[in-house]
Parts: sequence; C-alpha cells; structure tokens
Amino acid sequence: MKTKDRKIICNCCGKTLWEGAGIPREEFLHVEKEWGYFSGKDGEIQEFDICEACYDQWVKSFQIPVRTIEITELV
Ligand SMILES: [Zn+2]
Repeated sequence: MKTKDRKIICNCCGKTLWEGAGIPREEFLHVEKEWGYFSGKDGEIQEFDICEACYDQWVKSFQIPVRTIEITELV
C-alpha cells in the first residue's frame, strides 16, 4: 500500500472500501505477495484488495473450501 494513496478500492468490483483517514468502514482482504525465484514473476511484489462480497464469490470457486474457525470468546 502506498502511503500517499489513501484510498482502498476492491480490485475485483471497483467499489471504494476506504478513503482518507480513520477506520475502514468495512472489512476487506488485503493480499501482498513478493514473488520469488521459482515463479515467473521473480522480483515483483503484487498486491490487491478484495471486498467481502467479492471474497465470498471468489472462495466459492475454490475446489477445496476455506477452513472456517469460529472464534468463541466469553463476553
Ligand atoms: Zn468487490
């Protein structure tokens, strides 16, 4: 994430997830990957942000479902 770029947009649908200062209004997935020697993208860093709706659609396309762990806390 570039520090001067104070806007987070879903790379999938283009929705603005967060802009300016303060706390993001909604949750999103941030992925940052530094590709190494064994990839075809050696020396590149790629990053993207995905909103929750697009994330849900994305993981639905997986062959193996994501593992869900319920966080149970005593109130
Ligand atoms: Zn989206």
